[in-house]
Amino acid sequence: MKIVDVRATTVTVPLQAPLRHSNGAHWGRFVRTIVEVEADNGLVGLGEMGGGGQSAEEAVRGLRDYLVGHDPARTETLRFMLANPTASLYNNRTQLLAAVEFACLDLQGRHLGVPVHDLLGGRVRDHVEFASYLFFRYQAADGSGEVRTPEQVVAHARELKERHGFTVHKLKGGVFPPDYELECYRALAEAFPGDRLRHDPNGAWSPEDSIRFAAGIEGLRNDYLEDPTWGMNGLRRVRERTSIPIATNTVVVNFEQLAANVRDPAVDVVLLDTTFWGGIRPCVKAAGVCETFQLGVAVHSSGELGIQLATMLHLGAVVPNLSFAADAHYHHLTDDVIAGGPFRYRDGGIDVPAGPGLGVDLDRDKVAEYAELYRELGGYPYDRDPGRPGWYPLLPNTDWADPAAAGPVDLGGR
Ligand code: MG
Repeated sequence: MKIVDVRATTVTVPLQAPLRHSNGAHWGRFVRTIVEVEADNGLVGLGEMGGGGQSAEEAVRGLRDYLVGHDPARTETLRFMLANPTASLYNNRTQLLAAVEFACLDLQGRHLGVPVHDLLGGRVRDHVEFASYLFFRYQAADGSGEVRTPEQVVAHARELKERHGFTVHKLKGGVFPPDYELECYRALAEAFPGDRLRHDPNGAWSPEDSIRFAAGIEGLRNDYLEDPTWGMNGLRRVRERTSIPIATNTVVVNFEQLAANVRDPAVDVVLLDTTFWGGIRPCVKAAGVCETFQLGVAVHSSGELGIQLATMLHLGAVVPNLSFAADAHYHHLTDDVIAGGPFRYRDGGIDVPAGPGLGVDLDRDKVAEYAELYRELGGYPYDRDPGRPGWYPLLPNTDWADPAAAGPVDLGGR
């Protein structure tokens, strides 16, 4: 099998409501690039990456000269063809590498008639558990969907638990003052005494605020505190002052950082992201290192449609030391571009795809519909808050959103 073409299509798929985070928001939709790698036998492998538009599509098409003629089964060589670490000083292609790796694994699986997890050592589970990923949300255009108060956080979690069966809840914070978010977290703990919890302010807090928050949740059913503050040194300071495990998806995202964390621990749990690490296979390797050093592992979500979700499910299927439920933004989406409609949750998790390759196919009508929606709406500034024009956070942040500020937000047609 040889690669003959590489294609990219930007799509935007609506969310139920804008999702708030420490730097800004997802302005009511995700923008993603669908990557298709075609082989000389007519098979097409699927990949996906975050963001989109002309520059992203050109970056994907720019890989044609590297990939045409390459055997997609030679997955390991991709790392050196596309993202040699010495060349990456000038040209960081980690996310492109990930999208191409997904597509090449998909091609291999389709060619051999086996699911990707069979190419990765075989599954140790058929069903991957997920956390309910709770966000503070602005109102949608129709006025629905706001999550701002502790009561709304609990109601949102209850609705998701009833619909999907979640027994783990993750609250994305770093939006409101830490003490206010502590109140929301405690409300969740009180409402769901049998469930497990985690909080993730995306590194926005000072080490001191992080230590105070950790003290405030001691004794609750905490999985971990995720990236309370920025950087390995800040996280190490927090970790030395709490019994709650510290997790990261920000400062251990490659093998150099993983080695640094083994030599001088800053975090207890490594959240593996198939995009940030450059593919599914590097995540499997990293999980092996974590197994050796008895670090916790979970599957991270950087905002996905069904192709990327499939990569997360295949990863979750093959990692024996998956010690925590996975994360997904997926249940905030209103639709997907995969055939047969969106993946469905069952008992708080999703079944691992069993079909050849990643086990998902494109619904061409949906791709066309959401590519057109992208042409209509364009991108949005992920690191800007539509409710606070001109604001950007310091690190650590000292200027939080006002929890009393309710009402609609102007998305400016976006
Ligand atoms: Mg995180």
